[in-house]
Amino acid sequence: MAVKVYNTLTRKLEDFEPIHGNRVNMFVCGVTPYDHTHLGHAKTLIGFDVIAKYLRYRGYSVLYIQNVTDVDDNLINRSKQSGVPVPDLVEKFFALQLEEMGALNMDSVNIYPRATEHMKEILDQVKGLIEKGYAYESNGNVYFEVGKFPDFGKLSKQVLDKLQAGARVEVDENKRNPEDFALWKAEKPGEPSWDSPWGRGRPGWHIEDTAMTMAYFGEQYDIHGGATELMFPHHEAEIAQAEALTGKEPFVKYWLHTGVLNVDGEKMSKSLKNFWRLQDALEEYDPGVIRFYLVNAHYRSPIELTEESFEESKQGYERLVETVQNLQFAIKAQARDDRTERDDEIEKSARETIQKFEEWMDNDFNTREAISHLFMLSTKINTALKKGLTKETLEKALSVYDTIGDVLGLFRKELEQDMVVDGLMEFLVEMREKAREEKNFEVSDEIRDRLAKIGILLEDTQDGPRWKRR
Ligand SMILES: [Zn+2]
Repeated sequence: MAVKVYNTLTRKLEDFEPIHGNRVNMFVCGVTPYDHTHLGHAKTLIGFDVIAKYLRYRGYSVLYIQNVTDVDDNLINRSKQSGVPVPDLVEKFFALQLEEMGALNMDSVNIYPRATEHMKEILDQVKGLIEKGYAYESNGNVYFEVGKFPDFGKLSKQVLDKLQAGARVEVDENKRNPEDFALWKAEKPGEPSWDSPWGRGRPGWHIEDTAMTMAYFGEQYDIHGGATELMFPHHEAEIAQAEALTGKEPFVKYWLHTGVLNVDGEKMSKSLKNFWRLQDALEEYDPGVIRFYLVNAHYRSPIELTEESFEESKQGYERLVETVQNLQFAIKAQARDDRTERDDEIEKSARETIQKFEEWMDNDFNTREAISHLFMLSTKINTALKKGLTKETLEKALSVYDTIGDVLGLFRKELEQDMVVDGLMEFLVEMREKAREEKNFEVSDEIRDRLAKIGILLEDTQDGPRWKRR
């Protein structure tokens, strides 16, 4: 069974066949670090994080690059408003972005190249496009002449007439035609600039991506991802630049685009406004809950963010986490109590859940359907746990959550428990039991209260005391 991907370029579900056998070159447009990241950015980046992780799970060797635009109009405008130099803005917001995306287990990117580190490749591409007659210089600016590239619009299915009408709004006397786009922008006072054959200036936005990907991947590669709103003009311009320069098509074999995350402006309550910024959301919610909300939708589907849908998703994730914790506790309890009820049904359901997960993920990474099978398994496990299961069955069941959780980036905190913490907790629980046997309730209550203060909940169950992090 092959992995199938929905290719925006062809508008078809296609068998995934990388250009170089097992090697996959994948590029995704990063978030320009001029401001805080929000939940919409996280939806896109986590969507591609799951795709990279699943392809690796499937045995592909994925080289995943996400660019950092460290010079552009947004950064320059923000720098003018705030008085903070562009490089300082980049350092601040990119560091925050890495921290926040890291908290959400977004950890599959291999290289984060910066536009300003690829100035040589950018200049070479601009020069090449002028030599081939696709670009022209005008007062220190260089433009790509869209009319010279008949395929322009093939990704977004736009026709040139419509583009010309749309572009006429911004009149620029340096351009030969309104739809032409900048490859190089002449220096303006007080703005960052670099030397070029056309005088000092800075690169246009679209050229940095093709300069980087050609440097790392060569003239053609496998996957280009990004948010749907980047399809036009950004991704369209990338195709024009690359294919005009090399004469090879397709520049990118599979174009993948994520659905947007919408917040209804009018309905957006104050709490959602705070929640929108990732930094604030992370202060209020477990990162696992936020990640689950985003991966519990197919990456191409839009999400309408509402408090109700978020709360519902949170409860769903907590049910799955509870199953993981129930299994972990039952495995530990096995050491004290050897009831042995091997359950072939559960082992069969565990195997089938992995099969279903792979089937759905092979089908254009359908995380939502894959997760629905995890819910079904959880219901079966929680029923079976009431009669007790063998250690082997329990471990097989838990491994499903580990395997699927690894790809989707879920249950990490619960599954990566520290041996030292486990040992210390076991010791404290024993001390508390001893105190209770000796009717020393002052000590036993203090142990429970102190643990509660650091977010650890102690419960007395039929099978003995158990603890979990809140
Ligand atoms: Zn880009």
